[in-house]
Amino acid sequence: MTAHFHTHVADVDPLIAKALHREKARQQDQIELIASENIVSRAVLDALGHEMTNKTLEGYPGNRFHGGGRFVDVVEQAAIDRAKQLFGCDYANVQPHSGSQANLAVFFLLLQPGDRVLSLDLAAGGHLSHGLKANLSGRWFEAHHYGVDPDTEVINYDDLQRQAKEIRPKLIIAGGSAYPREIDFARMGQIAKSVGAKFHVDMAHIAGLVAGGVHNSPFPHADIVTCTTTKTLRGPRGGLILTNNEDWFKRLQFAVFPGVQGSVHTQVLAAKAICLGEAQSYEFKVYAAQVKANAKVLAETLGNRGIRIVSGGTDTHIVLLDLSTKGLTGKQAELILEHANITANKNAIPNDSPRPPEWVGLRLGTAAATTRGMKAAEFAALGETIADLIETDASGNQEETIVRSRLRVEQLCRSFPVYA
Ligand SMILES: *Cc1c(COP(=O)(O)O)cnc(C)c1O
Repeated sequence: MTAHFHTHVADVDPLIAKALHREKARQQDQIELIASENIVSRAVLDALGHEMTNKTLEGYPGNRFHGGGRFVDVVEQAAIDRAKQLFGCDYANVQPHSGSQANLAVFFLLLQPGDRVLSLDLAAGGHLSHGLKANLSGRWFEAHHYGVDPDTEVINYDDLQRQAKEIRPKLIIAGGSAYPREIDFARMGQIAKSVGAKFHVDMAHIAGLVAGGVHNSPFPHADIVTCTTTKTLRGPRGGLILTNNEDWFKRLQFAVFPGVQGSVHTQVLAAKAICLGEAQSYEFKVYAAQVKANAKVLAETLGNRGIRIVSGGTDTHIVLLDLSTKGLTGKQAELILEHANITANKNAIPNDSPRPPEWVGLRLGTAAATTRGMKAAEFAALGETIADLIETDASGNQEETIVRSRLRVEQLCRSFPVYA
């Protein structure tokens, strides 16, 4: 046997081995509050590092362009069956390499270049794959955006109805990456129908909450649904497309392959199947409910400390802070939290500056730390720590606060180990 088959990365590539090792330690030693992140199970990691990655296949189970696919077929069929069962729909394509590619396949299926789409504005929490000018979706389609009500910072469905009537889009998209409130899919489905548009729900952020039964489901209101298997669903990096429409589904198979992708990521299919199986368990329901409960505690704690919470609260895993009243930008807050080993990201809030360095929002998410086992008490402590850090940046005695906060974070991390 050549060394190729048994030498580990530590012995062949010190640069990469060291970075991998340090990344693992970083994950253990910090508290992850980036809302799009989570911590996958050991079983999912097993699949991602599996020899199945060597297998190249195009096509679908039972109908491949290459031989030797019988075990990958087992895996892909399991992922399809579990996705359908979990989300209560008739058809699932589990091949998209990412959430953005799942969306691209939907556009490829339903739209012609130049067609109009209506999606949530980026500053109101939308996603760049829903028609941002710098993204292919905004370059090739005519994207219009709905925002949130200036007072409530929640989608105003009456305004959306009016806008839809005026614009007459082919496709209306619900969902985003920094929208903290529950979306009324039934109402949006009605709006789409009333103007003859198709209704696409991109539930990337909230798929785990939907799966866990703590957020209303896009079915039966949506014509088509996409999501990532990352984020609250707690699986590998990749996407899913779900629908109840048989005709679309057949065309969708071609829209994914060869429409926007080539061969499947075989080992990721195995990881997707595992995460979709995990999401059917009782433990997952408990986790999903805890994610939401923890977000409420975090929002309340920070709100009580005088930090403005966009939309006044949360119905999901996301808590969006407005730091303008504290005289900070999101970037500054991100940096000071990082000094204390808390990881989060700057974000635009409704009516924010178009320039990212000037954004005054900070987005927090509770999924990853909930996966570690943290509950209300820990999130209350985290909220206090974050408030301390944000406040002392303005008052000046930063060093002492950072040291104290770092210690608190260290204790929490030690009590809730990752991959121990
Ligand atoms: C994260 C996200 C995506 C993109 O997923 P990638 O896998 O990063 O391409 C798409 N839509 C929404 C709403 C998201 O939050």
